[in-house]
Amino acid sequence: MKEAIHPTYFETKVKCNCGNEFVTGSTSESIHVEICSKCHPFYTGTQKATTARGRIDQFNKRYGIQGE
Ligand SMILES: [Zn+2]
Repeated sequence: MKEAIHPTYFETKVKCNCGNEFVTGSTSESIHVEICSKCHPFYTGTQKATTARGRIDQFNKRYGIQGE
């Protein structure tokens, strides 16, 4: 059985500026974000969905968050 080589994976606590906290898998121990799924315009419906979607993808990539 081979041992997989991968970065240490944490159950990361993400804290948002809006006060929301959630847990995700990441290679960082903790993440502080300015926007999350609860306060993001995509979910509140104040911005065009396509634009918001791209931003979320960028955001996830930047913080190494895996899509669900
Ligand atoms: Zn938020």
